[in-house]
Amino acid sequence: MKKDDCIFCKIANGEIPSATLYEDDDFRVILDLNPASKGHALVLPKEHADDLFSLPDETAARVLPVAKKVAGRLYRGLNCDGFNLVQNNGEIAGQTVFHFHMHLIPRYLKDTVNVGWKPGTLTEEDKEEILALGGENV
Ligand code: AMP
Ligand code: ZN
Repeated sequence: MKKDDCIFCKIANGEIPSATLYEDDDFRVILDLNPASKGHALVLPKEHADDLFSLPDETAARVLPVAKKVAGRLYRGLNCDGFNLVQNNGEIAGQTVFHFHMHLIPRYLKDTVNVGWKPGTLTEEDKEEILALGGENV
């Protein structure tokens, strides 16, 4: 499904032109218009999903192979020194466009990219609470 007022639906499906690095039936990878570094790209599924939590499993399973392919091409082609994959969900996490996307961010020695955080300490209370959430495999 596409969403009418979604800019990434329009870009992913070719209704709005973009600098496209890769395209297949399900994805388009474009250059970010406001790059954090040279080569900053976005992996866009063609089907709309607001975020990771509404992304179908089949699409989720295909995101990383596409990201790996294009990131590898950028990494080698631009002589990167490192690489970040970033994926934001929710405003507090930095999401500004509510169509799932994964950032491919090339890193260079002495670049000014900032994707860090201040490390905390895992408390016993938090650990117990989180482990008690369980899941299918634990
Ligand atoms: P996020 O903050 O994770 O939602 O990322 C949204 C990203 O989309 C930002 O890095 C923007 O620079 C980028 N962006 C927004 N509009 C466009 C556009 N029309 N074409 C390319 N990149 C865009
Ligand atoms: Zn969309």
